[in-house]
Amino acid sequence: MLRIDIATLFPEMCENYLSESIVGRARKKELFEINCHQIRDYTLDKHRRVDDTPYSERQGMLMQAEPIWNCFKAITEGRDRPHVIYMSPQGKTLTQQKSIELSKMDSIFILCGHYEGVDQRVLDEIVDEEISIGDYVLTGGELPALVLIDSIVRMIDGVLSRSDCYEDESHYNGLLEYPQYTRPEIWQGKTVPPILLSGHHANIASWRHEQSLITTYEKRPELLDFEKLDKKDKNILKNYIDEKNK
Ligand code: SAM
Repeated sequence: MLRIDIATLFPEMCENYLSESIVGRARKKELFEINCHQIRDYTLDKHRRVDDTPYSERQGMLMQAEPIWNCFKAITEGRDRPHVIYMSPQGKTLTQQKSIELSKMDSIFILCGHYEGVDQRVLDEIVDEEISIGDYVLTGGELPALVLIDSIVRMIDGVLSRSDCYEDESHYNGLLEYPQYTRPEIWQGKTVPPILLSGHHANIASWRHEQSLITTYEKRPELLDFEKLDKKDKNILKNYIDEKNK
């Protein structure tokens, strides 16, 4: 079972999110384990301070190395070293493939920064990889850690009702998801594509694949590697583009 430890200055913030909805229910069913740790519990400072001013003469505060180091040592003592991730805008941007890879691990330790960031020396000492959730800067690593954890745990068996819930979704196989429809059959004069009402499973599967290709081409063409598409998929897109340009 995957174990995730989060080291943060705001464990309640993480705990709240991770106790709700699909993730919270799966956690209760013990499909994975998550522990949120307060870094302040590991400072030796009598005022529980964990930050200080940077030597670079920059404004703001930095998280100190020692409380994070103590927290890491206490959590990992007597067991196999976990894979250590620092949530950082300098890291590689999170992808679905990375989440799938991490969902197969035994143990992950996630460090959330705050203020201007973290003393480089403790990062050099414990971190295996830095992960970013996008090219922008947030005030802390908690939201990025929650984004990462949510995307990891929904890949674990039993969290979603069926694996096709995520296998058909955007990014799982490099494409975006096809358009989806629910009741009523006609809404404001707009009808559901007739093929979806046909009950013909093979035709519906072909339609979904075709629509996935077209949606990806329209919304995120950079995700498509035309050279790597098979002949059938190249034809689907060629016909679509020819039809569009008529
Ligand atoms: N001074 C740092 C820099 O310029 O790279 C940014 C520090 S940021 C204000 C504080 C913390 O928020 C970081 O230590 C990191 O943990 C988290 N953080 C901010 N933006 C993030 C992002 N896009 N992805 C992941 N973590 C992020």
